[in-house]
Amino acid sequence: MMSSFGYKRASEQDWQQAEQLLRQSKHILAITHVSPDGDAIGSLLGFTHAMRTMGKTVIPACQDKPQLKFAYLSGLNEIRTKVNGNFDLVVGIDSSDLKRLGSIYQNDLHGHLPILVFDHHITNSYYGNVNIVIGEVASAAEIILQLLQRLKIAISPEIASPLLTGLVSDTQAFRTSSTTADSMAAAMILMKAGAPLMEIINKAVVTQPFDNIRVLGEGIRNTKMEDGLAYATISRKLRQELGLKDDRGDGGLVSVLINTHEAKIAAVFTENPEGKIEVSMRSRPGYDVSQVALEFGGGGHAPAAGCTLPGPMRDVVNQVVPQLRRVIAEA
Ligand code: AMP
Ligand code: MN
Ligand code: MN
Repeated sequence: MMSSFGYKRASEQDWQQAEQLLRQSKHILAITHVSPDGDAIGSLLGFTHAMRTMGKTVIPACQDKPQLKFAYLSGLNEIRTKVNGNFDLVVGIDSSDLKRLGSIYQNDLHGHLPILVFDHHITNSYYGNVNIVIGEVASAAEIILQLLQRLKIAISPEIASPLLTGLVSDTQAFRTSSTTADSMAAAMILMKAGAPLMEIINKAVVTQPFDNIRVLGEGIRNTKMEDGLAYATISRKLRQELGLKDDRGDGGLVSVLINTHEAKIAAVFTENPEGKIEVSMRSRPGYDVSQVALEFGGGGHAPAAGCTLPGPMRDVVNQVVPQLRRVIAEA
């Protein structure tokens, strides 16, 4: 089913404006989304390394620290959670709206700067002055790769590895419905440029800390499966009881739930350290969760979307679950 947001693809004119903005700028603040995933980190670092080969100063930034599993990526420690200094361009990566740039983007400091956006979410709000939004690619990393090809930037292993990490993360190692022949072609280019595919799949997708498994276990224990909707909650209290070190994320629970035969839609409600509830949603083809995420101020793709709401947990569950039921009933 096509999303109700239809088709989004940057035009040749958008690309030319993007290239011009990059050429004109010297000091770039590159920001990826809060609670960063592999595509957020990978496209941020790929972009950063590439722009540096063009002689730009680039500060890569994200409100929240990246997960330790990405330690194999060069430049990971350079990602700032606070920034200062003068810039002449803000680049928003893998982020569908300004809010997703979190506390890094400060209107009083950065409001006068042009914003250039590279994103693949169909819910993108076009918050940039120039927006390279391509709804049908599987990862923002593929859009950064297109940029590098247009700019004829040589793709070093240092650039290729984070970009392949982005592609592998958002496709769950080429298993999502968003994976196209073009995604495979991009992966081939990045492998040929020196990105180690198997290492990346293992580190970014397959292996995980044991604590994740414990979160998973508790989440599975409280999962409800009702008429094709699977949903579970992970509270801060639960994390404390388990004595967990990591204070974010669902341990991959939502993917486990959507991969059950019975589920048409899966949702996990996770209380974050700030006490807000992060809702992570997945759906089978034919069911669009991006519209529900958008209704609640979030965003995403038809088969994978999310939103963040003030707690308490029970209120959020009571608000979101009926909307997900409606998507199932109306399909
Ligand atoms: P997640 O469930 O966190 O893996 O996110 C699934 C998709 O929805 C990703 O493409 C996210 O970027 C997007 N997403 C998740 N949470 C939000 C949010 N609060 N606002 C906008 N987009 C979101
Ligand atoms: Mn992302
Ligand atoms: Mn992405």
